[in-house]
Amino acid sequence: MRDQARVVIIGGGIAGCSALYHLTKEGWSDVMLIERDELTSGTTWHSAAQVTNFGMTQTMIGLKSHSIALYKELRDDPEYPVGYNYGDGGIRLANTEAHMDGYRHFVSLAAGMGVDFEVIDAEECARRHPLISTENLLGGLWDPTDGHIDPAQLCQALARRARLAGAEVNRHTPVTGLTQHADHTWTVHTKKGDVKAEIVVNAGGYRCNEIGAMMGVSHPVASMEHQYFLTEDIPAIAEAGHRIPLLRCPISDYYSRQEKGGLLVGFYEQDCRTWGMDGIDPKFTNDLCPDDLDRVMDVLEGAFARMPALMETGIRSIVNGPITYTIDGAPLVGPIPGKRNAFCIIGLRAGLGEGGGHGWLLAQQIVHGEAEYDTWVIDPRRFTGHASVELTALKAIEDYQNEFRFHFPHEHRPAGRPMKTTPLTSLLAAEGAELGTVNGWERVDYIKPSPDFSETLGFRFNEVHPVVASEVKAVSTGVGLCEVSGFNRFELTGTDVHSFLDRMICGRVTKKAGRVGLGYLLNHHGMLKAEATIANIPASERGPDRVWYGSAAASEFHDMDWLNLHLKPDEDVTIRSLTNAQTILVLAGPKSRDVLSAAARGDWSKQAFPWLSVREAYIGIAPATVLGVSFSGELAYEIHVPNESLAAAYTALRKAGEQHGLQLFGARAVDSMRLEKGFLHWKADILTEFDPLETGLDRFVTLDKGDFIGREALMQRVDAGPKRKLVTLAIDASDAPAHAGASVKTAAGIVGTVTSAEWGHRTGLNLAYAFVTPSSSEEGQELTVDILGQSVPAHVIAFAPYDPKHERMRA
Ligand SMILES: Cc1cc2nc3c(=O)[nH]c(=O)nc-3n(C[C@H](O)[C@H](O)[C@H](O)COP(=O)(O)OP(=O)(O)OC[C@H]3O[C@@H](n4cnc5c(N)ncnc54)[C@H](O)[C@@H]3O)c2cc1C
Repeated sequence: MRDQARVVIIGGGIAGCSALYHLTKEGWSDVMLIERDELTSGTTWHSAAQVTNFGMTQTMIGLKSHSIALYKELRDDPEYPVGYNYGDGGIRLANTEAHMDGYRHFVSLAAGMGVDFEVIDAEECARRHPLISTENLLGGLWDPTDGHIDPAQLCQALARRARLAGAEVNRHTPVTGLTQHADHTWTVHTKKGDVKAEIVVNAGGYRCNEIGAMMGVSHPVASMEHQYFLTEDIPAIAEAGHRIPLLRCPISDYYSRQEKGGLLVGFYEQDCRTWGMDGIDPKFTNDLCPDDLDRVMDVLEGAFARMPALMETGIRSIVNGPITYTIDGAPLVGPIPGKRNAFCIIGLRAGLGEGGGHGWLLAQQIVHGEAEYDTWVIDPRRFTGHASVELTALKAIEDYQNEFRFHFPHEHRPAGRPMKTTPLTSLLAAEGAELGTVNGWERVDYIKPSPDFSETLGFRFNEVHPVVASEVKAVSTGVGLCEVSGFNRFELTGTDVHSFLDRMICGRVTKKAGRVGLGYLLNHHGMLKAEATIANIPASERGPDRVWYGSAAASEFHDMDWLNLHLKPDEDVTIRSLTNAQTILVLAGPKSRDVLSAAARGDWSKQAFPWLSVREAYIGIAPATVLGVSFSGELAYEIHVPNESLAAAYTALRKAGEQHGLQLFGARAVDSMRLEKGFLHWKADILTEFDPLETGLDRFVTLDKGDFIGREALMQRVDAGPKRKLVTLAIDASDAPAHAGASVKTAAGIVGTVTSAEWGHRTGLNLAYAFVTPSSSEEGQELTVDILGQSVPAHVIAFAPYDPKHERMRA
């Protein structure tokens, strides 16, 4: 074993082997994999190893397509061919129209990534899968590429190719400790000696938290026991004359695929179990949990009803093994929050299908700082301080119990709630608030018109549509109040704050005390990394001159790491997070100034406190920092209040608002209004796949202001011209909004993808943002948008169809 490597990957399952191979593909050969036992001796060896292309975001579809293409290449490698049954096809079943709508949307989403799915009816499902009955079945989603692979051969093939490219693989070498040095490099301690490394990667599967503990972190990953059985041969399979497609059933929570002449059937039972929560026996390797089919009887009955042939078939063997989950079910692939030179590829619950792609995106992040796709959906920093193993276990159980039931738009599942609340949460709930969650925070979605009001989840406009309309009306004609919990907020102090931010931000942002500006941070490729509201708070009895850096709710760890990474040792800048310490109350509407003036001493006139001002004040008796900014497009104030004073501020505003008819509103109304104003959401519309000019943020870029991160790359991109442009679309449909990921087309084919969409209640327009090819981006361009299986006419309109000159928020 060498005593040095640029990258050391810990763990030799599919995650580690794929990462190792892809690092060599990206050009790094000084890389090493260390495995405590044999390769694949964790979860990988006993995996059902189904490989599917299905995903609910384009990043997931794209990375799975990468897996499939790679696995085909490995299958066809004459020197070391891997057993891969590609193209058996697969069906995801549905027995509700809402579920079928979801599939119709996912067909369009996949098409944008060059992947062809098909929605088929119940008869067609039965025609393609001769074992199933059509009882209680509407239809399904067909993926022609579905198949399964030999997991051990796959890992060996990847390791073999990596070795040939110069990588080293050390088996039977448990990693026992990790020491990080002042220069951020590592010493990896193993039972066979130490290895010095620049970068370490945790690919430890269900033992990822043992490795995490060695570097002082706890990963939000928990394991579940998961069972499948293999049947004896089934005559109907032999009679079919073709391989039997994969099956995934959200009605009864099982899956199946062909295994030799029989089936492999796997279960997601309601009575499910976490595994290894209190530690894992060091001897558990190449091992399984005791099987327990009694537990899966509920779902087994569903499988029997769908595939009656199972009832007459014997079981050959049972497998019960640990499978890892995260808080939202997607893995953690990328930088470990709060650490330098440390990455992970963990929490994989469909690691065979996805592993090829995850290793690829991880290697790109390590080598180039960023991957080809925006990887936020798998970024380990997307959860912040609340992301404990305890919470993960609750969410893992919930996810397991709903394995094939995708989230509907606006669905917020109950496990692990409430996680993060403000002093107002229960008060607002008592006032009728319907709460959703954002990064673990309870947040008001809308105010229910009656206590028994409930939403029918689906992809079309529903009973919440008029509720949001009335909230928007209250805000645009009078005044509304909305709590925004969990908004990210850093306080920056020190003499170098402005020069530091100047280097980080691609435009000129005001440095003037008492003023607020918006800035965009780019990565080294000139692509959009972060968005920040910069508020220059003058010195007061509450502290010295300071800057508040405000950004999206889930961005805390992401932005903190990015800022810290670029802070020079000799720069006088201190960054402190106030994210969990304060909450925003948004006061919005033409009468908001009247309410603020009644609740807070001081002159709040347009002259004394114009748009884009910041001032410290008291709202009643509550200390607060007030920003004159608006996301709704109406005159509005963001009132930041320490949580201990939040109830006091709220009470004062409610009281002052009484005579002005103040009404509560929620996030759904905000989303509708921001689309009418051309305002964007980070990680919905602001993505690392696009630069600020492609995203329509030209006015926030000052190329001649001096150096800033990403400038050179952006200048090159300017010369090359945009690949896509963000546009606003008005869609000719009134029954459903477009959904993120939907394809936008012209007669020539797909020209773009929707990023976010909502009905604009003030303009009466069904709106969407979409990135489209430059030739389709001109105002007036006629297009179609796929909405739930229909090609709906749409056209490009100007950004901000509501009050385009922004006169209302400057009033
Ligand atoms: C029953 C079952 C069926 C499944 N079916 C499918 C399926 O059909 N399709 C699909 O895509 N996925 C499926 N999965 C999930 C899939 O198998 C996993 O996502 C995948 O195998 C995880 O791979 P991994 O590399 O992350 O972890 P592992 O395979 O567990 O690898 C981690 C490795 O790290 C090593 N390690 C740990 N600690 C140390 C240390 N200190 N030092 C050195 N090495 C260490 C371990 O020995 C192990 O080899 C299934 C899982 C189960 C349990």
